[in-house]
Amino acid sequence: MTARRIGLTGGIGSGKSTVANLWVGLGARLVDTDAIARELTVAGGAALPAIQREFGPVALDSAGALDRGRMRELAFADPTVRRRLEAVLHPMIGALAQQRTTDATEPIVVFDVPLLTESSLWRRRCDRIVVVDCLEATQVQRVMQRSQWSEDQVRKVIAQQTSRSRRRAIADAVIYNDGSTTIDNLAESVQSLWNLWSSAQPGDAH
Ligand code: ADP
Repeated sequence: MTARRIGLTGGIGSGKSTVANLWVGLGARLVDTDAIARELTVAGGAALPAIQREFGPVALDSAGALDRGRMRELAFADPTVRRRLEAVLHPMIGALAQQRTTDATEPIVVFDVPLLTESSLWRRRCDRIVVVDCLEATQVQRVMQRSQWSEDQVRKVIAQQTSRSRRRAIADAVIYNDGSTTIDNLAESVQSLWNLWSSAQPGDAH
């Protein structure tokens, strides 16, 4: 069986992780690109030899993992650093995601991709795109509560992210998750999409 590949995205605090878990609860396989990036860069991770070849030992911390703080400093001083790191990591993330899709026995694979809107490559890897959307005020309130951040901190992150309208423009389905939306409401939305997309339909390929 070939799994239907669903790309899931949303701004910080939109409820993307909550929605991802609901897909998993119904039997989807979750492929989380941030988690893969972390997996590749822990001590002994598969990306470390290539990272060390590119940047030298300066990129690794004393435990042998990618030193993220150091890389942020380097990237601040030299704008090519981020691109060079991505050039190492992105193909490896893509390959692992691909592998975890090919061997999936589940009818649906959900790709959790924070930068889906910005990546035409990732959008091409998805059969359908689901965007979780809510008002900015709701994002601020949720993240302040979840992560004990200040309002200013949350607003800065939101300002760096893609706008809600650009995200919605790439969506095959938008799940609104605002003030009055309960987890049960979200579960119902996910269930309807599951019913729609978990079995192959004619004219699917796109
Ligand atoms: P994201 O992954 O988009 O950053 P999360 O799924 O982690 O967002 O949601 C942010 C916070 O808001 C979490 O603590 C989550 O439990 C809570 N949350 C999200 N949606 C709802 C909802 N509809 N009702 C209640 N709490 C919610």
